[in-house]
Amino acid sequence: MSASLNLILRAAAFAAHKHRDDRRKDLAATPYINHPLALAQVLAEEGGVEDAVTIAAALLHDTIEDTQTRYEELVEAFGVEVADVVMEVSDDKTLAAAQRKRLQVEHAPGLSSRAVLVKLADKICNLRDMASNPPHQWTLQRRKDYFDWARQVVERMPHVNERLRARFDEAYARQGELERGHDAHRN
Ligand code: ZN
Repeated sequence: MSASLNLILRAAAFAAHKHRDDRRKDLAATPYINHPLALAQVLAEEGGVEDAVTIAAALLHDTIEDTQTRYEELVEAFGVEVADVVMEVSDDKTLAAAQRKRLQVEHAPGLSSRAVLVKLADKICNLRDMASNPPHQWTLQRRKDYFDWARQVVERMPHVNERLRARFDEAYARQGELERGHDAHRN
């Protein structure tokens, strides 16, 4: 097996284990691992990304933020390159939510190319989920606000993959569907 494929498979297995008790916030409580897998798929299939470090970091992108995983653990298991990308896209959970959101906007211009790719795929996947399979306890306004915040972050990121930028724009354009979906849901 190639070293790249090995890295990616180990990252997928590690993330599946770390997220084994986590669920997404949608009504069906989708297993959390589906989300990092979706990022990896978007990067590879829609962005044409072939860099194994980026794909592995995408699979691991929520392990530090949302599970009991330490940076050192990722360094040991996957090397410093992968660990650094994961660290770069992780919010500091000791800060208040509003501050974390503000910092993502502020830090966007200085992100490395790999971190841009992971973050872009994350926002694409989250907007798609928000439109078709939203967090069931979120109000319509909160979902709309998420769209606008995600765009603020993406607009400030360096351009590293125009295909993914176009996919983000397509996902963002579905903001108008939120209202219709919401009304249909209420009726
Ligand atoms: Zn994510």
